[in-house]
Amino acid sequence: MSYFCIHGLGLAGSTVAWQLWQRGIPFSIIDHGQGGSSRVAAGLIQPITGKNATLTWEYDVFFKEAENFYRGIEITLAQNFWHPLESIRLVPPHAEKKLLPKLLATSHAPYVIGEIDSPWTGMRAIAIRGSARLDVAAFVNATREFFAEKGYLIPPFSPQENDTTPILCEGAEGLMLHHPQVWPHRCAKGEILTVHAPSWQQTRLISGGAWLVPIGNDCYKIGATYEWHEVDEVITAEGFAWLTRAAQNLGGADFTILDHQAGIRPIVRKSMPIIGKIPQSNHIVFNGLGSKGSLYAPGCAKQLIDFLIHDSPIQPELDAAKYFSV
Ligand SMILES: Cc1cc2nc3c(=O)[nH]c(=O)nc-3n(C[C@H](O)[C@H](O)[C@H](O)COP(=O)(O)OP(=O)(O)OC[C@H]3O[C@@H](n4cnc5c(N)ncnc54)[C@H](O)[C@@H]3O)c2cc1C
Repeated sequence: MSYFCIHGLGLAGSTVAWQLWQRGIPFSIIDHGQGGSSRVAAGLIQPITGKNATLTWEYDVFFKEAENFYRGIEITLAQNFWHPLESIRLVPPHAEKKLLPKLLATSHAPYVIGEIDSPWTGMRAIAIRGSARLDVAAFVNATREFFAEKGYLIPPFSPQENDTTPILCEGAEGLMLHHPQVWPHRCAKGEILTVHAPSWQQTRLISGGAWLVPIGNDCYKIGATYEWHEVDEVITAEGFAWLTRAAQNLGGADFTILDHQAGIRPIVRKSMPIIGKIPQSNHIVFNGLGSKGSLYAPGCAKQLIDFLIHDSPIQPELDAAKYFSV
């Protein structure tokens, strides 16, 4: 059996590490220990997203996989990461004609509870079921602690790295450095706020343009900007102003800012990940989780390890061999 080395311990690398550990397959991990979008992500998992209220690809399958996976790790680590949520999709007047028929169509019916009275002035509000939030930073940090304590983390270029099969889970850093080869990426910077707002008393995820999500103890995440020009992990005054306005519009005027962060979403083509072996190379990759890493990472990690160990097929939409051969 191959001895694997995971490069990068964000969501992709963490889910791969658990898959290998649960199957008793030997491996090691190399990670910078800093940066990466998983430490910033809000961890939202939603069946309907974006300005066009698009249905998320293969939602039910990946949701079940994700819920079972994270719940299992919660038991192993005696820590809570997975939070089911009801959500509200706001529809502004200019988008009513386009979005309301779509949201109320039969295609969206499994997830749409229906229209509710809206306290958001001028906005229609549609209640949606089946969302969740993963506490991504807590999951990734706890994973790192678990495997570090057991001696799985090794320094780069150490002798143990030789004779291993690398699994590259390098996120935006790998895509932007074109490692292990050129990826035509669309990595997007995102900024996010954490606020304390005892008066809001909101238990649901509110979305529409921006979003607001409760994270407990009267705290909320507000997000997120998208920026394709200056793609770095540096917070900006423009991002801060946009997020503050979003907090006011979605929650109210009364809040205290606790944190302001920036990260880079690893995007290859929308939020469709790429997993498997790059043709004519020995490189195994898992990247391109985009804005939907929390949902797709567990199912993708399982497919990747099934492929590496049992030669099981990877879904064509995700398969690196197909992606790199066109
Ligand atoms: C503002 C913002 C909000 C977001 N909100 C959500 C959300 O609500 N829901 C959601 O699902 N997703 C969200 N995301 C996206 C989410 O962060 C990603 O889908 C996911 O975290 C990507 O995980 P990853 O492991 O591929 O990459 P990363 O988390 O970036 O991890 C890659 C790791 O590899 C390390 N690394 C890179 N190269 C090397 C190397 N050569 N050697 C060693 N280590 C290396 C890096 O240091 C890093 O630790 C958001 C992202 C941002 C920026």
